[in-house]
Amino acid sequence: MEPAYFEAGEPCAVLTTQPLDRPLDYLAPEGGCWSGSYVEVPLGPRRVLGVVWGPAAGDYDRAKLRAVLRVLDVPPMRDELRDFIIKAADYTLTPLPAMLRLATRAPGLSDAPATRRIYRLGEGEPDRMTDARQRVLETMREYGGLAFTQRELAEMAGVTSSVIKGLVKQGALREEDAPKDLPFPHLDPNHKGKDLTEDQAAAATHLAQGIASGTYGTTLLKGVTGSGKTEVYLEAVAACLKRGRQALVLLPEIALTSEFLTRLEARFGGRPAEWHSGVTMTERRRTWKMVAENGAQVVVGARSALFLPFRDLGLIVVDEEHDTSYKQEDGVLYNARDMAVLRASLCSARVVLASATPSLETWANAEAGKYDRLDLTSRFGEAVMPEMEAVDMRAETLAASTWISPTLRKAAQERIDRGEQALLFLNRRGYAPVTICRACGHQVACPHCDARMVEHRFLKRLMCHQCGETTPMPEECPSCHVAGKLAPVGPGVERLAEEATTLFPDARIAVLSSDLFGSARALKEEIKRIADGAADIIIGTQMVAKGHNFPNLTLVGVIDADLGLQGSDLRAAERTFQLMRQVAGRAGRSTKRGLALMQTFQPEHPVIRAILSGDEEGFWQAEAAERQAAGVPPYGRMAGVIVSSEELNDAFDLANQLTRQCEPLRSVGAQVFGPAPAPIARIRGRHRVRLLVKSPKGVALQKAIALWVRNVRVKNTTRLTIDIDPQSFL
Ligand SMILES: [Zn+2]
Ligand SMILES: [Zn+2]
Repeated sequence: MEPAYFEAGEPCAVLTTQPLDRPLDYLAPEGGCWSGSYVEVPLGPRRVLGVVWGPAAGDYDRAKLRAVLRVLDVPPMRDELRDFIIKAADYTLTPLPAMLRLATRAPGLSDAPATRRIYRLGEGEPDRMTDARQRVLETMREYGGLAFTQRELAEMAGVTSSVIKGLVKQGALREEDAPKDLPFPHLDPNHKGKDLTEDQAAAATHLAQGIASGTYGTTLLKGVTGSGKTEVYLEAVAACLKRGRQALVLLPEIALTSEFLTRLEARFGGRPAEWHSGVTMTERRRTWKMVAENGAQVVVGARSALFLPFRDLGLIVVDEEHDTSYKQEDGVLYNARDMAVLRASLCSARVVLASATPSLETWANAEAGKYDRLDLTSRFGEAVMPEMEAVDMRAETLAASTWISPTLRKAAQERIDRGEQALLFLNRRGYAPVTICRACGHQVACPHCDARMVEHRFLKRLMCHQCGETTPMPEECPSCHVAGKLAPVGPGVERLAEEATTLFPDARIAVLSSDLFGSARALKEEIKRIADGAADIIIGTQMVAKGHNFPNLTLVGVIDADLGLQGSDLRAAERTFQLMRQVAGRAGRSTKRGLALMQTFQPEHPVIRAILSGDEEGFWQAEAAERQAAGVPPYGRMAGVIVSSEELNDAFDLANQLTRQCEPLRSVGAQVFGPAPAPIARIRGRHRVRLLVKSPKGVALQKAIALWVRNVRVKNTTRLTIDIDPQSFL
């Protein structure tokens, strides 16, 4: 369909990124504009960003309409992205302007295109040839007339800037102004493939055929770390490049990006575009523009990269698709995995969901035949998954306030003696989760949240893991004011490190916990140092489970395998299973078979037994049957509703009103549960009340919820947040 064109002075509707409930009418500017044009419009006294959304609504007095200020120098939004924004907004019950904001998050988008000075070969000859001048001209010829900045040229030729200026004066070099946002290097799909094993090659061929079909489809690519998942999906990227389409690879963690980019560069002979919070503003704008102008073939990024204005997106890879970080839990609540499938279906692209331990949603979609499924067996046979054993903590003798059992201690000592590494895993940051007063029994809590303060001994502070509030470690109890009676209860990784230092006095011990590093780079460097052998014992939280390679690691000790099984989260079993398998998967990655020891007080628990037996399909089937019987996701639908207010009564009033007026929900067979105080009943001083909506699969749940919440009046001081397909129940 031809996009609509609006002549200068013709009314058109513009959707802005401001919180308004509809597009506003404006007059097209001098030179006209297209439907989809990114524009700047006046709104009150301000200039704001917007997109021409279509014909004007026409319900304004035309004489009062203001004109679009200018059309930005970027390609208009394509129908596919517009559809995606509308559908994503409908699905997540997010206002359109908030969705548009996600799609225009490139700083300086409305700035005039920046330029920089570049140098090319000129017609003239230098009057006198020197060695330095010779080197400059040779460098230029060697690169076939490519343009360089002064700094690049000076560096490559090993000359000072005055040599370059001299050559310009003589006409041997030409100065030009070029746009600053340059295309990314060309990526060559045939640059350097890796040799694939037979089943890797078969999987790669299958994915390439999907891409060749030019139609939508989603594939679960399942394989343990070391099975070559990445090599396989890079072949899908190559197939996509061969067809001239763009590819997007989503990663769950920024710390992994740099290593991954290097890998991609080796495969395709150029560095792809990057999109995440760690990228500079200029680079973000460059990526945004180049993606739209086809100056970027591949983007590697975080979940928000899904909203980039791709010109022709042919493939989306979601690596570690089960990772909870794909669910945005702040602002616009969306699951990047599900949105990837939505966007691909709108632009006839393929999706690859890669994981060693897929989410139950994805597993069930593959079972139901909605997704293809490819299984990679390991390059190293069964040796990749370690031997797994439970340590029955009921039978172990431990001193008070210690957590490493004699069995685990012995196994770790053996590894240290052999010059191998051992990992002690505990998914708890800080020193101790609880600080208690031995005089009055008071537990130190956050003043703003319904959460305990966690002692971080390295930082000598107490910290709230909900809101980030920190205070210096108090000398006296905040309740009874007796000094010197505050004591830690329970272990965090810092305390575990203390115990390990006592047990293994000669070992080098390293703690990997996200809060101990100032930047992703510092963390990455530490991981590399450790992988290279700088530590004998690694003590780590959840982050060690994410794809880092420790080739010499042969023992994983899980300090508290029961930790994730507590709580009422419907995914508790699934998460524990995934996390334990991932952590265990760190052991024995190259040639040595590893051992994973799980300390547990309930070795007969079905989840623990499933982990130990390694019967993955059995676990998924049992878990699926249980969820099916309960009518919960992925076999039913859920939405979480959080009402929050500084006044507890206001929050409950609104929640009660919602429960009473739930006719729109009942009419589609949905039920509402609650209200109840949320498990974390207060965050940042706001009281939180929860409702849970459950419905059968296949009903128009969003529509019903939209009708439902429209019927209640929300006070200015009260906030209503709707979370479709909630992942977190806090
Ligand atoms: Zn006290
Ligand atoms: Zn707090």
